[in-house]
Amino acid sequence: MKSSQVLSGQALIGEELELRPVDIVIEEGRITAIEERLQSPPLWICPAFFNAHTHLGDTIAMDCGADGDLESLVTPPDGLKHRLLAAVAREDLVAGMRASISGMIRSGTCGCADFREGGREGVLVLREAAAGLSFQPVIFGRDGGDAIADGLGISSTRDIHGVESQVRAARNAGKKIAFHAGEQDSGDVDAALAYEPDLLIHMTHATRKQLKTCAERGIPVAVCPRSNWVLGVTTSARRPPLQTMLDLGCTIMLGTDNVMFVPPDMFSEMAFVSAVYHLDSKIILRSAMEGSHFTGSPFFIRKGARAALFTVDPTQSGLVFSHDPVTSLVKRAQSGMRGNNVFNLKTQ
Ligand SMILES: [Zn+2]
Repeated sequence: MKSSQVLSGQALIGEELELRPVDIVIEEGRITAIEERLQSPPLWICPAFFNAHTHLGDTIAMDCGADGDLESLVTPPDGLKHRLLAAVAREDLVAGMRASISGMIRSGTCGCADFREGGREGVLVLREAAAGLSFQPVIFGRDGGDAIADGLGISSTRDIHGVESQVRAARNAGKKIAFHAGEQDSGDVDAALAYEPDLLIHMTHATRKQLKTCAERGIPVAVCPRSNWVLGVTTSARRPPLQTMLDLGCTIMLGTDNVMFVPPDMFSEMAFVSAVYHLDSKIILRSAMEGSHFTGSPFFIRKGARAALFTVDPTQSGLVFSHDPVTSLVKRAQSGMRGNNVFNLKTQ
């Protein structure tokens, strides 16, 4: 029997996230029709989020009392997280990642771009953790893991040797390339740009010229503002330079970075960006799902797309008083989340 479902409400349609009263027909996990409705029930329908930068593996190091700097915490090979990852039992690693993924799903997220440590085994462990869940991790492996992953994820060009040969091998294998860049200063950005990456992470201290290059070449930037603040690489709304990125036409994607010190929750990230950076709500919301392009089948709601969306019933909370669902989704939806996830993803 064909599975079919109709969702009626105020939906955020297309990449423009245009709020419209509609019926959305979902058959076999795909949106087969979007029909205008004069009167819709008070239900908000939003595309699922895609977290554009995570390190799910370090769930096992959650709040481990670390208060060091960037280098002592997360820089390979001897940063605290790498020592903890090296010592953890495989089953605990899987359980940690699965717990994080399950939490992400409950808060409207059905995919992420993960930098996965631990070579091939590291990639397999993440696949196992996500197995059977309506969640699509786009995995950037390293140390050989890239060969069986979606891409190669390079910790800053200054941390590792042999970047060139790694990038060449990954390119030849048709893999995507991503770098951490500009997290502490702008010194490693030009080297990353020289490899024509598919994604740059952070760019907290990127120069205007470097950002212009990103815009011109269509290289998206995954920004992780809460992580930057927690790690002390910014103390000002000027960094990461979100407004400059937008002014120059960069594509911004929101990520939450290391689970060890930032929960992988997009509602919290959006609310933080709204409070600190004062960007337009719709731009913030779009950046929370923009990374879904990496799945090859973006989550934006349109006819023919797969159904990767969630609903919020505002009548179940104070959200019923909202004059602006987009702004309320960005600034306060989590506390009022009563709805359903409709993630009919075919996981890899
Ligand atoms: Zn990172």
